[in-house]
Amino acid sequence: KPKPKPSQTGPQPVAGVDRIIAVASGKGGVGKSTISANLACALAAEGRRVGLLDADVYGPSQPRMLGVSGRPASPDGKTILPLRNHGVTMMSMGLMVNEAQAVVWRGPMLMGALQQMMNQVQWGALDVLIVDLPPGTGDVQMTLSQKFVVDGVIVVSTPQDVALIDARKGIDMFRQLKVPIVGMIENMSTHICSNCGHEEHVFGHGGVAAEARALDVPLLGEIPLHLDIRVTSDSGAPIVVTRPDSSQAEAFRRIARDL
Ligand code: ADP
Repeated sequence: KPKPKPSQTGPQPVAGVDRIIAVASGKGGVGKSTISANLACALAAEGRRVGLLDADVYGPSQPRMLGVSGRPASPDGKTILPLRNHGVTMMSMGLMVNEAQAVVWRGPMLMGALQQMMNQVQWGALDVLIVDLPPGTGDVQMTLSQKFVVDGVIVVSTPQDVALIDARKGIDMFRQLKVPIVGMIENMSTHICSNCGHEEHVFGHGGVAAEARALDVPLLGEIPLHLDIRVTSDSGAPIVVTRPDSSQAEAFRRIARDL
């Protein structure tokens, strides 16, 4: 569908970036960053030009998940050179601050930092820029939606009620901000034992599918809770890169193919 023409004051596009897709969650720890990293790597493996902005200022985890480190360079003192790994161009708040340093920022600082990351990083030509948001419904979500043309948001939740209640609030906020909802992803859907393959529904099962139906948004997919997903994330090479033929990687790839 044709993109709305950007107005002078309304949401702006990012130079060279075709589409901006945000990944959101109501609660922290539901796997939003894991899903962002795996989707970005899966898109890159398909040959798409992908950027990943880690905007989770409170707990930036993309440098670790994508295996990058070091302070990004700024040769001209105005723009920032992003880092690159697994075919993904990436930038993170975590690279601007030290990993052990907690970020205690106020709204206006967060907004400034986000705008800087979007506009001053040399993203180059990208088919899609994935923005890994902080959890919840705060300043970063508002600024991103109001200052930039966000083509869609993916909402990640586990099947538990406590996570679903917050996911619903997130969807409500993005609807108010007029950001199209791409759909929901159920993470930690089923636990698959890495030893015997036995399946167990640790956090329940199907809760996100039911919620997606109730909210009239698509269910994009279900990602199992599997040890390999956690181990590969921690090692800096997501499962879609390290074990592309596993069924876990396939669950991510299926979602990426339709994005
Ligand atoms: P969030 O970004 O929502 O805070 P993370 O992506 O950082 O959540 O995930 C929290 C923790 O759970 C991480 O250690 C991650 O490796 C692990 N994790 C996330 N999804 C899965 C999964 N499907 N299977 C196994 N571990 C997972």
